[in-house]
Amino acid sequence: NTEFADRVGRVEPSATLAISNLASELEADGADVVDLSVGEPDFPTPDNVVEAGKAAMDAGHTGYTPSNGIPELKAAIAEKFADDGLAYDEDEIIVTPGGKQGLFEVFMTLLDEGSEVVLFDPAWVSYEAMAKLAGADIRRVDLSPHDFRLEPALDDLAEVVSDDTDLVVVNSPSNPSGAVFSDAALEGVRDLAVDHDAVVLSDEIYQSITYTDGTPTSLGSLDGMVDRTVTLNGFSKAYSMTGWRLGYVGAPADLVAEASKIHSHSVSCATNFVQHAGVEALRNTDDAVTEMRDAFHERRDMLLDLFADHGKEVPRPDGAFYMMLPVAEDDAAWCEGAIEDAHVATVPGSAFGTPGYARLSYAASEERLKEGVSRLAENGYL
Ligand code: PLP
Repeated sequence: NTEFADRVGRVEPSATLAISNLASELEADGADVVDLSVGEPDFPTPDNVVEAGKAAMDAGHTGYTPSNGIPELKAAIAEKFADDGLAYDEDEIIVTPGGKQGLFEVFMTLLDEGSEVVLFDPAWVSYEAMAKLAGADIRRVDLSPHDFRLEPALDDLAEVVSDDTDLVVVNSPSNPSGAVFSDAALEGVRDLAVDHDAVVLSDEIYQSITYTDGTPTSLGSLDGMVDRTVTLNGFSKAYSMTGWRLGYVGAPADLVAEASKIHSHSVSCATNFVQHAGVEALRNTDDAVTEMRDAFHERRDMLLDLFADHGKEVPRPDGAFYMMLPVAEDDAAWCEGAIEDAHVATVPGSAFGTPGYARLSYAASEERLKEGVSRLAENGYL
C-alpha cells in the first residue's frame, strides 16, 4: 500500500461533491433538477473578451509568459487596484491561473505548521483546506448569530486574534452568506491586525457583485493596512470567466517575491492568451458587469420576497449571488431530502462551518428560481 503524505490526510474532498453526485444520478435517471448549488455566474463570457482571447491566439500569444504575468495585464491590474485606493506597483502583483491558485500561494507563503489563521464562519470551504495543507491551526469567529454581519462580532474577534495570529481571512462580499462587511467592521479588523501585527487577506473576488451604493471599501485602502494586506481578486465572477482560470494577487513586494517562488515552481504562468483577454475584460467590460449585477440584484429581491411569502425570513445578502436559507438543524439531511424529494440542489451550511442553513446560489434564471422555491414549498421544505 502506498503511504501518502500527512497533508493530504488532513483535508476532505469538496463538500459540494456529494450533492453534485446526487444531482447527476437523478438527472441520469431523467429527473429535472433545479440546481441552486452552483458557484458560477449563469452568463456567457462577454463577447469582446472572447474575441480578445481568440485574437490573442491568432496573434500567436501561445507561449510561456513572464512568470508573474504579462506587463499589459499587470498595468491594467495596477490601475484597477488604484481605483480601489490600493497602491500596488507591478512588482507587487502576481497574475495567477484562477484566484484559487493565488490564495494557495499566499497560504503556503505565510503559514507553517502551527501557524494561526482566523476565519469567519460561514467561510468558503477552500480556506480551511488550504490552511490545513499548510499545517496551520484555525481559529473561528461565528457570524451566524449576527445575520452574518461582522460588526457585531468584533468583540468575539478581539478574543480570538492575538500576537500568535499570523493571518486573518476576510471575504466580503462573502461566499456563502453574501454579506458585505461595513466600513466600521473593516476598521475593527484593521485595528486588531495592527495591534497584533497580523497579515490580513482580503478576498474581494465578488467585489463587483454588490447591491449597496458604490463599490465596497477595499481593506488594504484603510490607513495602516497597505503593508499588511494581501488583496485577492479575479475574473471568474466579475466577468463570468470561471473556466478561463485567471486571477490576481496584490501584496507587499517582499511577500510577492516569496510567493513567486511557489508560483514559478508550480504553474510557471497563467495561460498566455487568457491574460490578453483579461486586459480587455478590465479595460472595456463595464456594461456587461453592470448588466450581470442588475440581474443578480433583481433575483435576490425576488427570492427574498418568495421566501417571505412562505414565512421564511432569510438574512438579506448585499452581494455575491448566494444566500443562506435557515433550515433544519441537520442541514445535510435537509439538503439530501430537498434534492431527492423536490429535485432542488443546495449546499449544506455545515460545509461552510455553519450548520442549520443551506446555501442557495441564484446564478439561475428567475423562472428556475421560482420553480425551485415552489418545489421546496410543495414538498414541505419551507
Ligand atoms: N474566493 C472565493 C470566496 C470563491 O468563492 C472562489 C470561487 O468559488 C474563489 C475565491 C476562486 O475563484 P477562481 O479560482 O475561479 O478565481
